[in-house]
Amino acid sequence: MTVVKKLEWRKGRAETPFGPYHVIEETNDDEPFWFVMFNGKAAARCGTHDDEESAIFAAQADYERRILAAIEAAPPLSKLKAENARLKAQLAEARKALDGLLKPFEGDDCRYDHHGYCQAHFLQEVDECCVKIARRVLEGGEANG
Ligand SMILES: [Zn+2]
Repeated sequence: MTVVKKLEWRKGRAETPFGPYHVIEETNDDEPFWFVMFNGKAAARCGTHDDEESAIFAAQADYERRILAAIEAAPPLSKLKAENARLKAQLAEARKALDGLLKPFEGDDCRYDHHGYCQAHFLQEVDECCVKIARRVLEGGEANG
């Protein structure tokens, strides 16, 4: 569960990465009230309040809405584990296939001509020889389990 940290207020002001919140008492009105400013503008959606505490609460709620609007829930762990199991099974199959496909090339190392093409295999460029790549994949697979 995601929890947005509390704003830290000093003299009616709280800093955020997006700009400051202010809670201000409007005393020129017949009925004084508190309101919230965000980034120098009145935050109308925070409403008006009878006291500072209530205005701070509204500012905190507004801050949480802004933060949470930018966060996407991660896929559940069970879904990631299932995907991981599927990929591992697929990788095991691919390794098995590569192992079989490499059998005809046993003891047949890459040999490059002066242009850098593998003469032993399919005339592919250095580091592009599919036999070399397949061997590297199999070695890596065994090493990494
Ligand atoms: Zn080769």
